[in-house]
Amino acid sequence: MISLKRRGLLGGAGMVLATPMLMNRAAFAQQQVAQDPSKAADIDKIMPPDTHRLKLGSFEVVVIKDGSRASGAPQETFGTNQSADTVAALLEQNFLPADNFVNSFSPVLVNTGSDVILFDTGLGEGGRANGMGRLIEGLMAAGYTREDVTVLVITHMHGDHIGGLMEGSEPAFPNARYVTGQAEYDFWVDPAREGTAAEGGHKTVLAKVKPLADKMTFIGDGGEVVSGITGMAAFGHSPGHMIYNLESDGRRLLLTADTANHFVLSLQRPEWEVRFDMDKAAAAATRKNVFDMVASDRIPFLGYHMPFPAVGYAEKLDTGYRFVPISYQFDI
Ligand SMILES: [Zn+2]
Repeated sequence: MISLKRRGLLGGAGMVLATPMLMNRAAFAQQQVAQDPSKAADIDKIMPPDTHRLKLGSFEVVVIKDGSRASGAPQETFGTNQSADTVAALLEQNFLPADNFVNSFSPVLVNTGSDVILFDTGLGEGGRANGMGRLIEGLMAAGYTREDVTVLVITHMHGDHIGGLMEGSEPAFPNARYVTGQAEYDFWVDPAREGTAAEGGHKTVLAKVKPLADKMTFIGDGGEVVSGITGMAAFGHSPGHMIYNLESDGRRLLLTADTANHFVLSLQRPEWEVRFDMDKAAAAATRKNVFDMVASDRIPFLGYHMPFPAVGYAEKLDTGYRFVPISYQFDI
């Protein structure tokens, strides 16, 4: 029997200190509003971040909601090669508003019993002014501290995944080693990105990722993070985007990262072009390969931008896949 590492709320003395956090969310929110009435309009963002715990064999998996935001006209991001009416019709058919959509960010922690592995880091400091960047707060609500993280995996190097790597000029997870895709790192650090559309990302990677390079292991397709966790090349969304297969005691979960980024538009119409897919044709082909596997193997997947807790199944349709959110599959 593996005893899972656990600190924070369960500690003896910590119990007393933690009591204010144990008040119910409504009471906590009301207290915050009493201190600062301007927060009343945004009450969701001052409540403790959502976390969701799953048991996967002998692994403990904790999904943390780093934040979410309304992101504007859906067709300007998903289905950019379709008419606005076509995109609106599919949204309405799925009981969703046609004029706006919510994007959320769900890093995930996996406690194997010997390692505490964090996949991606949310928006970090850059998101906090807008009520996001709440990963560390969420980890603490789930009983972990940032010092507990022993391995940090970066699926790809877009800002909403690497934004939380540093706090100021210091690594946010001081005891972690890092794992990331070789192709992804090589693309973003290359000075050839200067003067291209990727220049902004290049500069962010130089500031947030490159300082950590001496503690990094670079992998390719099939590379192992730790026993039971394997990287798979899923290029297209970014040049070296990787997804991760988790397997413990016969249970499986695929972390699909940004392979599909809207639970209706990207899954039901995987061939539609997406603004943030850097190679649109490769991203669409990868989407089909990955979700064909998810659907035919009937395995659960966790998508970083799926609706929280971001875990579900994909049912094959004629045109793509239907997202089926989890209910109690991990509770028994
Ligand atoms: Zn993303």
